[in-house]
Amino acid sequence: MPNLQDNDVLNRSTTSFLIPAEQVAHVQPDNNLEHALLVLVKSGYTAIPVLDTAYKLQGLISKAQILDSILGIERIEPEKLGQWTVQEVMTSDIAGVYDETPFEKVLSLSINHPFICVQNKQGAFMGIIPRSKILAYLNGYFHEQRKHMRS
Ligand code: AMP
Repeated sequence: MPNLQDNDVLNRSTTSFLIPAEQVAHVQPDNNLEHALLVLVKSGYTAIPVLDTAYKLQGLISKAQILDSILGIERIEPEKLGQWTVQEVMTSDIAGVYDETPFEKVLSLSINHPFICVQNKQGAFMGIIPRSKILAYLNGYFHEQRKHMRS
């Protein structure tokens, strides 16, 4: 099998895996948790980015964080969904890269993060790279390699 470095697989452009910002489900920091939960459940995603009105990345919010935030000592407290905002519950510990970051770095971040957020140098949110896009690319790449080996 040819060497990975020779094929430049690890230097592929990061933006070729991008789901562009306009196709990314997101919420805003001052949305309440009820709205965020609706977006998460309707979209089917486990976690989504939090973007401010200027489309700058502020954090991530997940179904697990929302459910955790409404757990009382003896009961679930759904009334909190309308009272608390996304910014009170979201995490700002984001796996983020710049659009020029090499694919190798994105690949290594995807081990621990289901999606990677991409920004440009001005800090504008460009979109996300979900782990499935990376796996689909690597799957195609290794199939091609196997075909070459057999021919
Ligand atoms: P996948 O690898 O396709 O299963 O996606 C991994 C995660 O990326 C999902 O669970 C979501 O948290 C996030 N994700 C994927 N696509 C989108 C999207 N269009 N909008 C928001 N989040 C997304």
